[in-house]
Amino acid sequence: MIIRDIVAPNPGPFTLNGTRSYLLGDDAVIDPGPAIESHVDAIRTAMPHLKTIFITHRHGDHAPAALPLKKVTRARIIAPAGVVDDADVIVHGGETIDDLDVIATPGHTQEHVCFMTRDRDLFTGDTILGEGTTTIFPPDGNMAAYMRSLQMLRARSPKRIFPGHGPTRDDAMALIDEYIAHRLQRERQVIDALASGARTIPEMRRRIYSELDPRLEGAAEVQIMAHLIKLQEEGRVDARDGGYVILSRADGEGSHDTMA
Ligand SMILES: [Zn+2]
Repeated sequence: MIIRDIVAPNPGPFTLNGTRSYLLGDDAVIDPGPAIESHVDAIRTAMPHLKTIFITHRHGDHAPAALPLKKVTRARIIAPAGVVDDADVIVHGGETIDDLDVIATPGHTQEHVCFMTRDRDLFTGDTILGEGTTTIFPPDGNMAAYMRSLQMLRARSPKRIFPGHGPTRDDAMALIDEYIAHRLQRERQVIDALASGARTIPEMRRRIYSELDPRLEGAAEVQIMAHLIKLQEEGRVDARDGGYVILSRADGEGSHDTMA
């Protein structure tokens, strides 16, 4: 299958150089992107026979162009629940549609799905980016679910990754391993920051992220919060007196040895 892409003119700290809308063969698009007129027109021009619009998740930089495209092409929209009002097929993961496997990958958002071709080319939306890391914003974003989703993608042995943002990666498995290692390292850093006396999220952020684009400070703090929620659910951290305390430094579940 020939895969082309069109990058939307929406660059930024979270979208990198912009959203990549993927054109599959001559009749399908994955993540049509933001409803920016020039971007919608570019997809229309490149895909005069558009029949199917796949969407990974509901965020404004991935989904909205589906509606104007459907209006002019009558293409059907295939998306998880709650992504656009008039989806033609709602997917949950586990389906195969036009030779694309739909894989449920909750975490970045609760409804997020990835799509994989028979050649094991994996379209990851915002679950895995071509460079840097993605953001998990609770309560919709869920770190524990996200880490399980990374393992799920790994189990599918993808070859290449076509991310929602950033470059295509030919080293899919290595990239997934990096993503898993990165989250485990962040979790370890949160635990270490707590163990060394940090109590509040800003204190932890200053210890963990030494050089940070000031525009990303808020997002970094939310990532720490996402890890803290996971650790609280696992009984390893507790919220007390306006801060957080560590209950267990042990990895893995079921360990509740309290540290004095
Ligand atoms: Zn997103």
